[in-house]
Amino acid sequence: MKGSGSITAQHYATGGIMTLTWRDGVITEIKPSSSTLSEDLWFAPGLVDLQINGFGGVDFQHDGLTESELLQASRALRSAGCARFLLTLVTDRWESLLARVAHLRTLRSESDELSSAIAGWHIEGPFLSSEPGYCGAHDPTLMCNPTPDLIRQLRVLTGCDPVLVTLAPERPGAFEAIVEAVKLGMRVSLGHTNASVDCLSRAIAAGATGFTHLGNACPQALDRHDNILWRVLDADGLMVSLIADGIHVSPSLFRLLHRAIPVESIYYTTDAMSAAGTGPGRYQLGKLELEVGGDGVVRQLGRTNFAGSALTPFDGIFRAAKMLNRSWQKVWDGFSSRPAKWMKISHQIEVGAEATFCLVRPHCGSSSGDVTVIWRGEALAPAGASEKH
Ligand SMILES: [Zn+2]
Repeated sequence: MKGSGSITAQHYATGGIMTLTWRDGVITEIKPSSSTLSEDLWFAPGLVDLQINGFGGVDFQHDGLTESELLQASRALRSAGCARFLLTLVTDRWESLLARVAHLRTLRSESDELSSAIAGWHIEGPFLSSEPGYCGAHDPTLMCNPTPDLIRQLRVLTGCDPVLVTLAPERPGAFEAIVEAVKLGMRVSLGHTNASVDCLSRAIAAGATGFTHLGNACPQALDRHDNILWRVLDADGLMVSLIADGIHVSPSLFRLLHRAIPVESIYYTTDAMSAAGTGPGRYQLGKLELEVGGDGVVRQLGRTNFAGSALTPFDGIFRAAKMLNRSWQKVWDGFSSRPAKWMKISHQIEVGAEATFCLVRPHCGSSSGDVTVIWRGEALAPAGASEKH
């Protein structure tokens, strides 16, 4: 499926009216236009989410997923503005996790559509802190220490794919594992950790460059004098992800983090699980039974901690914009070009690139809108961003 066509719309960053032309799914021309638009229509790069545990009713943590289930999830993501994502697998026995990667990678290799959507893999666990609060919804009994050998096993399975590994650097062997991962072209993000200042700096010196969902995966009550938030904010050189739903990170903390961290070192994610893109009800995340309330919050049954989110990427744009009191255009890069560049995932709108991008029709007041993803030159059905926030 590769289409040809053209569209005249405003560029999301400059506001200039441009005509984009593509042939057989590839952009052939981008030029300024003197036309007047008959509607409020914008084009922007496809959203890129580096942490998707499941979507549209499909849980990626299950064994034996089928191609059609993966397509269901990736199409639901696309209808929420997300053209490419890192399929995220959480803590499990290492062998089971590797088997799952191998299976999913085989399915992806058999489908052009999946090869385009699943840009790579985010392995979040089992090398995490098993301390209460820091382990989040991950099963501490399945956690283990990282070793260069385990990292090599992961690289053998994933070939040249972008791979992001989230780990807790206080685990014995973590520094050696970080060095190996970086040597093999992976990105290492610290997370689910209670690392000391010294441990964080040693991890950064070893090559870790990210911090996963800052503000989450820590106990609700923290020592006011010394806690993982302060330590990370005081560390330099980390690309920090934030879950932009206004729930995992409160609006005031979200704003404060944007003051404390350079904007080019922040990217947004949904950390979405299977309920995202659906509605309230009971869902699975691996072996966990989760409940999504009418408030859209995902909780473990009978517990108060959050477990992933039901946020969609497009909705995340408008929530981030609202929290920061900025336009949706101003926050777009945090959910597209910044995570894409960091993980070396192609996403640019330029001549010669794949004609995959978003067309946005903001609603009146611009606090929400509709998005249509043009994927390889073909339009997919629009999806609205909710206005209930
Ligand atoms: Zn997590």
